[in-house]
Amino acid sequence: MPADDAPCPCGWGEPYGRCCGALHRGEREATTAEALMRSRYSAFAVGDAAYLLRSWHPGTRPAALDLDDDVRWLHLAVTAVERGGPFDDEGVVAFEAVARADGRRHVQGERSRFAREGGRWVYVDGSPT
Ligand SMILES: [Zn+2]
Repeated sequence: MPADDAPCPCGWGEPYGRCCGALHRGEREATTAEALMRSRYSAFAVGDAAYLLRSWHPGTRPAALDLDDDVRWLHLAVTAVERGGPFDDEGVVAFEAVARADGRRHVQGERSRFAREGGRWVYVDGSPT
């Protein structure tokens, strides 16, 4: 886990403890689909599988999630946001995430769908871009 005053992995520019760390600890909820998406990227980066499951739509959530310790997440770039705001019930966030695994650089692009479930934003599913 990064220190609270370390830069947040999501790249927003805030310290981890005031950015995605607060969401991971359940101190507050994401107010937008983009914030939830960023917090999920950060959860991959810090290895918080429990948060990933908790922020997944119950209809599409896997029973368990095994994160690969050999993958290091390096960078996130959000490339498009559709809806997903405080007054929306669904949203789409497109992003590119850069990782290093097996000594090689990987770029993963995805268009993720989010929905509001019981007032909270959750991840529904995604398609590769
Ligand atoms: Zn963050």
